[in-house]
Amino acid sequence: MTARIPVVAGNWKMYKTPSEGAAFVSALASRIGIPVGVEVLVAPPFTGLAAAVTAAEGSSVEVAAQNIFWEEQGAFTGEIAPGMLADLGVGWAIIGHSERRQLFGETDQAVARKVRATIDHGLRAILCVGESEQERDADLTEERLTSQVAKGLGELSAGGCSELVVAYEPVWAIGTGRTATPQMAQEACALIRRRLAEIVGAEEAEYVRILYGGSVKPDNFAELMAQPDIDGGLVGGASLDVESFARLVEIAVA
Ligand code: PEP
Repeated sequence: MTARIPVVAGNWKMYKTPSEGAAFVSALASRIGIPVGVEVLVAPPFTGLAAAVTAAEGSSVEVAAQNIFWEEQGAFTGEIAPGMLADLGVGWAIIGHSERRQLFGETDQAVARKVRATIDHGLRAILCVGESEQERDADLTEERLTSQVAKGLGELSAGGCSELVVAYEPVWAIGTGRTATPQMAQEACALIRRRLAEIVGAEEAEYVRILYGGSVKPDNFAELMAQPDIDGGLVGGASLDVESFARLVEIAVA
């Protein structure tokens, strides 16, 4: 069985000013030190990226963007290109978060272009997939995940999978306090790995980290992390507090 290094990623959404974010990164870095066997990242809003990168220098904390646009440059008011983020020292981008899909009309095709552009520019992509509550109730979870994985990888060049992390985030569990049971999360993550294997081959799929996201907290994370196909967490609310985020990092390495 392949050893996959866990990832604990904090999605700050539209919280924290640049100075709050920098102070958080400094406090987190001294709280966790240089933990072995885990990758730790925070995703501030665009305005906080530069300050977070500076604060993270020399520490174990990496910085992710919450979104990107796929073009290199041009007349795309309000958008940010992956090359601009790479130049800033940002190493990762979250792509296709359900809030972007639902609130900002992001389509599977846009997600596929963003995944490709992120990886083509040397950043690592966290592709978010997950079913809505209606889809789960209608027994459409498998169909939805299969389609989101296939479409999300639709533009990826050969070998691009090595820079890809997938986050399984059931929409009904995000920010609601309702976590998927470890068994439900494991089933979904195992399904995602099987679908990845069909697309990129079983060997490559074994190396892809699959994170669970949806109301992760220090008191439910250990059981989720114990599942064989869960390789970390994409965390919203609990990533906004240094102590709870640091606890999640400790659980991931335990
Ligand atoms: C998220 O924003 O990706 C998320 C999972 O949020 P929360 O942990 O607050 O449910």
